[in-house]
Amino acid sequence: MHSKFQRLLAAGLIAGTAITGGPAIAADDEVNVYSYRQEFLLKPFLEKFTEETGIKTNVVYAKKGMLERVKAEGENTEADVIMTVDIGRLNAFKKEGLLQSVSSKTLQGNIPAQYRDPANEWFGLTLRTRAIYFAKDRVDPASLSTYEDLADPRWKGKICVRKGSHRYNVALVASIIAANGEEGAREWVRSLVDNFARTPQGNDRAQVKGIKEGECDLALGNNYYMGKMVTNEKEPEQKEWAASAGLFFPNQDNRGAHMNVSGAAIAKHSKNRENAVKLLEFLSGDTAQQMYASVNFEYPVKEGVAWDPLVKSWGAFKQDTVPLAKIAELSPLAQKIIDEEGWR
Ligand code: FE
Repeated sequence: MHSKFQRLLAAGLIAGTAITGGPAIAADDEVNVYSYRQEFLLKPFLEKFTEETGIKTNVVYAKKGMLERVKAEGENTEADVIMTVDIGRLNAFKKEGLLQSVSSKTLQGNIPAQYRDPANEWFGLTLRTRAIYFAKDRVDPASLSTYEDLADPRWKGKICVRKGSHRYNVALVASIIAANGEEGAREWVRSLVDNFARTPQGNDRAQVKGIKEGECDLALGNNYYMGKMVTNEKEPEQKEWAASAGLFFPNQDNRGAHMNVSGAAIAKHSKNRENAVKLLEFLSGDTAQQMYASVNFEYPVKEGVAWDPLVKSWGAFKQDTVPLAKIAELSPLAQKIIDEEGWR
């Protein structure tokens, strides 16, 4: 059963309007979450949180326009905790001044420094890597090595990847700038575009479909889509796409594979700040870490937490340790290079 709060918010969402009226009232035993992810994904560990703390959680699913909404609601926002995916989105909230700093020894202990904001305004909770998907019947994984190698002319006409402007690719290019400098990244993008099998189209899964259909031999995609395709009972053809491809983690002999996060933050105008901090701390702890990472075939951000068995089956790998704050800082330049070098 939905609370009155949720019904009000849902009404606000449907009407596309912000919640207005007097300042929101803080409740002792509640915390309000604005989530990019659907409630059913979060429910199992949020229930555990309520069990452990007695604090009730209200989740508003706001995939599109969450930032605009929090901004429009201003001081009257009901948002306490914001949960979203990708460093690009987390940083956008920070840049708009919609977050507040949280000083917590628990968060600092559980989350490695490279996966949280130096000013403690956002925190990575789960990790994903941008992997190379390869055609199992046409590519020997021993011939794969690095992201840089994808720019080699021997892959001409063989590579599928989604649009350059997508956050996942912008962050990847930012990591190439961090590793090889602006000119290095520029040359890489230029040569990568030369190797495209087709004009970028579709999402990460569509690139793996391209492998299955023989349009391309290699694709770039986030690791968790392999899990989503392999387990997709609603669209079994996705299992076939997945079966045609293997996952390769690049740059294992140098900096490691590029990492990104799903994360959380506390809204600047949170009315239930104490409960919000408790929820963030809970999300960084062993129980929630294991559940939250498994739900989307990602990696826990906290060290020593068990991986989902399917995720584990893809093997351990070396992770790039460049701070995500650096990726955020380099992203505007990455976007510029992507545009100028014609990665449409
Ligand atoms: Fe995704």
